[in-house]
Amino acid sequence: MSERGIERYLPLIGEERVAEIVGAARPLLGLRVLHISSTFHGGGVAGMLRSLVPLMNDLGLDADWSLLYGTPKLFRITKGLHNALQGEEGEFREEDIRVYHEINEFFACFTPLFHDVVVVHDPQPLPMIRYAEKDCPWIWRCHIDLSSPAPGAWELVKPLLLRYDAGVISSERFRKSDLPLPTHIVPPAIDPFSPINRELTEEETAAKLAQYEIPQDKPLLLQVSRFDKWKDPLGVLQVFHLVKQEVDCRLVMLGNMAADDPEGPEIFGQVQAQAGELPDVHLVTVTDEYLVNALQRAATVVLQLSTREGFGLTVSEALWKGTPVVATEVGGIPLQVVDGETGFLTRPRDYEAMTERVVELLEDRELAARLGKAGREHVRRNFLIPRLLLDWLRVLAEMV
Ligand code: UDP
Repeated sequence: MSERGIERYLPLIGEERVAEIVGAARPLLGLRVLHISSTFHGGGVAGMLRSLVPLMNDLGLDADWSLLYGTPKLFRITKGLHNALQGEEGEFREEDIRVYHEINEFFACFTPLFHDVVVVHDPQPLPMIRYAEKDCPWIWRCHIDLSSPAPGAWELVKPLLLRYDAGVISSERFRKSDLPLPTHIVPPAIDPFSPINRELTEEETAAKLAQYEIPQDKPLLLQVSRFDKWKDPLGVLQVFHLVKQEVDCRLVMLGNMAADDPEGPEIFGQVQAQAGELPDVHLVTVTDEYLVNALQRAATVVLQLSTREGFGLTVSEALWKGTPVVATEVGGIPLQVVDGETGFLTRPRDYEAMTERVVELLEDRELAARLGKAGREHVRRNFLIPRLLLDWLRVLAEMV
């Protein structure tokens, strides 16, 4: 039996769901699907594809994954575009647009394209469609928060999007009324068997924290996120500072550096400078998925204070471990956190409300346990990878 086969998920999703997934795959046997993204690690897209692609193959599709081998210059430009699509005003110089297209043209020339469906993830490889020989449906899978793009950025990408046959977004909030393209809603999901989410014993959890010299002597607040302004890392420090005046606790901020996010080191520098004065703050930049896992288990409260968020897999990851979450009501987060039931929601940058909610959870462990338990069940029903797989099979069936 395949280590990565769909039957592994039986105890979590039940026989009917597995049969439904196998049935949805049947008309697609042998379908050659190519996913194109811009990094194998760092960020949520890579993590999902690492589980989704083997599962598609397990069910008889022929799924591939190619990387856009970008340069630092390209990733600086595409991070600017990402920021602008999430609402930041910015200018796009002609030279930058030329580089963006040139690298995609080069990539289109050298990528073997013999598939039945191509799925392009996010803005980095978006222009590839202009330069590839297109003889099958192409889908743009957008993982970012498109709720209020800067007009210049939207006008820049729209002509490219019109060449696609369908779009896939994570939440109804991101649907664009001025984009005449069939658009499907497919929220992301986590893999309960990945290194980030598989079960760990208390001893394994404690050993992982000890490896990084993180004591378990006080309640632990945690935010796991790339050091990215949209995740409001300075706000996390502010909330910690306010909470600590009421309840003694520790803060861990864990964020590795994604290859396609050149802003990470600069934002990390700002966080370091601000954290300098605060006791009991641990800033960690290592890439260690078992550390993510252990911290999400050991944390008393997980924070996700984003000001924009495509989905925020870290929220489902924490809830899956039964850890309550205080998060902002932006992007895809409210799909996961039902306020007062599976965690608490606040407006972005409302540090007083965040502090109040965190303190409430630190002081009322029964409430924390109840929200965590409900959160795990909410994730089991809605945000595990077999549901994502089923959604994709349905989208693919419509395309071919
Ligand atoms: N992650 C990680 N190590 C880190 C920080 C994040 O493995 O130091 C993982 C995190 O657990 C999650 C993904 O990267 O699985 C981030 O996905 P999310 O949707 O939260 O944010 P994105 O980075 O895609 O904006």
